[in-house]
Amino acid sequence: MRFSKAYIPTTKESPKDALLPSHIYLSRGGFVTQVASGLYNFLPLGKRVLRKIETIINEEMDRAGALEVDLSFVTPAELWQESGRIEKFGKELLRFHDRKDNLFVLGPTHEEMMVSIVRNRVTSYKQLPINLYQIKTKFRDEARPRFGLMRGREFVMKDGYSFHSSTEDLDREFDAMEASYKRILERLGLDFRIVEADSGAIGGTGSKELMVLAQSGEDTLAVCDTCEYGANVEAARRAPCSNIPEAHGADFARFKTPNVKSIDDLSQFFKVDPYYTLKAVIKRAMYIEGSELVCFFIRGCDELQEVKARNSVGAIDLVDAGEAELVEIGLIPGFIGPLDQDKIRLVMDNDTKNATTMICGANELDYHFVGVDLGVMNDVVFADLVEVQEGDGCPHCNGKLLHTKGIEVGHIFKLGTTYSAPLRAEYLDENGRSTPFIMGTYGMGVSRLVAAVIEQHHDEKGCIWTSATAPYMVDIMISNIKEEAHVAYAEALYSSLEKAGIETILDDRKERFGFKMSDAELIGFPFTVIIGKEMENNQVQIMIRNTREMLTVNANEVLSKLKELVG
Ligand code: ATP
Ligand code: MG
Repeated sequence: MRFSKAYIPTTKESPKDALLPSHIYLSRGGFVTQVASGLYNFLPLGKRVLRKIETIINEEMDRAGALEVDLSFVTPAELWQESGRIEKFGKELLRFHDRKDNLFVLGPTHEEMMVSIVRNRVTSYKQLPINLYQIKTKFRDEARPRFGLMRGREFVMKDGYSFHSSTEDLDREFDAMEASYKRILERLGLDFRIVEADSGAIGGTGSKELMVLAQSGEDTLAVCDTCEYGANVEAARRAPCSNIPEAHGADFARFKTPNVKSIDDLSQFFKVDPYYTLKAVIKRAMYIEGSELVCFFIRGCDELQEVKARNSVGAIDLVDAGEAELVEIGLIPGFIGPLDQDKIRLVMDNDTKNATTMICGANELDYHFVGVDLGVMNDVVFADLVEVQEGDGCPHCNGKLLHTKGIEVGHIFKLGTTYSAPLRAEYLDENGRSTPFIMGTYGMGVSRLVAAVIEQHHDEKGCIWTSATAPYMVDIMISNIKEEAHVAYAEALYSSLEKAGIETILDDRKERFGFKMSDAELIGFPFTVIIGKEMENNQVQIMIRNTREMLTVNANEVLSKLKELVG
């Protein structure tokens, strides 16, 4: 491609709301333009990167035996009613009526549609397993679209769905897909981690996320410093506490604690480790219909993990409860405890089960109970509610957990019959019994990957594409296009590189050298050949974008040197 004929509108201006390098450089480098909040156009360079990622995904899916399909973007709302997800998805699901007043939605994901494709068509266990996927535009009316391509409203997803006649076969396919996803990210040149995940609103068990490691990641991961264990903090587990602090050993009593409301105050007042105090966190749980206040109890040394808490009551969302709401139902903020508590729904953390010598609120102003044995809390729901902290023990080995940030670029999980059962998608098993399909689902954020590459690979000058994602591998830059010999050399090199199958762009624009150089750095071509004054000595320079190293190379050896560098 000749730069003079290309459409690469680079600019010095960053988008007003841009915080992340990928958002800034993809806009400034002329890869994408913003249409409206969460909506982007891919310009020629952006489209090339997107297509490269898609091609790698296609190749790996082919290799794994998955079959590509292309489903209608517009899906009938009835399917969403059948699965029961129309309410669950809430406002992210964009709905509209056609001219005949039929209700449709723009597909935010395609479980329902994919199930409807095999329903009544795949009818026997003999036709299983089958794995269907597509690479397709999705629309989610995200509450807070942000960070450019990272969280758009319209975005490209690879979504795959597998259908099985046994859980063993699903397990096999799940492992195969995990291996394929791993290969895809390796080929893209990304540093990533596969972690245990929460299954979210889609439901199911056995869920893993593929996380590209980057400071700007929206997800916090707990990773072991010794073994392979890693999990999203939303789902991370920890080993039981190994150095339990010394207990105070008081007998059960009601104690006057004037104005002692926080865990810090309490632990100072009684000179006891917060481990032995009980923290009440009250949230309003929002359901499809209605809401209620819930009190989550955890040890004073722990923090509530909101997603775990939300899952424990099956809520769609949790919002902070105001003091007035608590007072209204007769709770006394600062002194709320679980004993004889009938004013509010309780959920207690697993680590408080049968805990002894605890201190908790007495549900009376300025009073706490000490020496509480929580073994008396028989009828209460216990769940894992705690957010693991750095330094907590790994649940699998003797290692310690650390926190790191990740960008979720893929999510795979075992759905079982979550969709096939309500949608009545069934096949006849070996005994002639009608049985719902056992399903797996495998999602990958294709347009998010474009941004993720840049989050992981950039510097203060701009993008640094990996070999597999670069829009062009080599940029040939003619410093002064009035030098005919230089132009002739550049043209010859350009056609040799093209012949060698190395994607090249020839910067033949009548622009200043400095201008072209900053474009090359901003766009991030892996190698830029600079044809300039050194030609007098039959030499050119090759800039390696990743390291910004400049190699001086004999003009006759540039082709072989580039072949070697490109690998
Ligand atoms: P997130 O937690 O980031 O909202 P999700 O759990 O809603 O993601 P899935 O429903 O599992 O995502 O979708 C599969 C993949 O699609 C995600 O792993 C992510 O890479 C991508 N994705 C999801 N939402 C968006 C979005 N708004 N913009 C770009 N990519 C997205
Ligand atoms: Mg989401």
